[in-house]
Amino acid sequence: MGPPGSGKGTLSSLCVKHFGWCQLSTGNLCRDHIQRNTEIGQKIKSAMQQGQLVSDEVIADMIKDWVLVQDQLPQGIIFDGYPRTKKQAELLYSFLKNTLQDFDLILVKLHVDVDLVLNRILSRISCSNKKCQQVYSLLKESNMHPKSSMTCDACGSTLVHRSDDTKDTLKNRIHVYYQHEQDIIDFYIRKGMSIGMINGAQEVQDVFNDFKKLAQQKEYVC
Ligand code: AMP
Repeated sequence: MGPPGSGKGTLSSLCVKHFGWCQLSTGNLCRDHIQRNTEIGQKIKSAMQQGQLVSDEVIADMIKDWVLVQDQLPQGIIFDGYPRTKKQAELLYSFLKNTLQDFDLILVKLHVDVDLVLNRILSRISCSNKKCQQVYSLLKESNMHPKSSMTCDACGSTLVHRSDDTKDTLKNRIHVYYQHEQDIIDFYIRKGMSIGMINGAQEVQDVFNDFKKLAQQKEYVC
């Protein structure tokens, strides 16, 4: 969990690279539908461009479609940007309980001040190749610059600004995130889980080191 720009996508990429886990980003699934101009894509485009949440039902259908195309569920899944509402948290929890006999669910929150988040997002660019989607920063002090301007280091595709990374949309997205955050945390606390807190303002590698420590502590596991 964490507001837009807190580093969820970057931390997810590191987990994919180092642990071979699979990243399920509902934001990426939404963008993919819009890019392919599917029926769902046409339905969700305006909500996304205004920084509003897409309906829980549409997100649930996307997750089901994602599960259906997997030969078998990967050993580790990072839910990046999901759940975003209490309803989604309930659905995810019952899906895991009903589908898998045995699972560990770890909830991690990246804490970052709003000013830093705004700065980060307005300087964020990402790879246009939907299989890659590597994220970079144009912030002077960042160590996440692409090696060559507007080209992805990983796959050579063009880097682009996300169309919803504008000042107006962003304020709405941050507001919407905080509207739901406490409800989701309360839901998991009632299920007996703890929330692992990480300072998301740190260097990427320090965030990842903190995450690895948390993931080994059993009290964060359900
Ligand atoms: P993200 O890439 O996670 O920042 O998501 C970008 C946008 O996709 C959000 O502002 C929402 O419009 C939509 N979205 C992504 N994930 C969800 C979700 N779990 N529930 C509702 N809307 C979502």
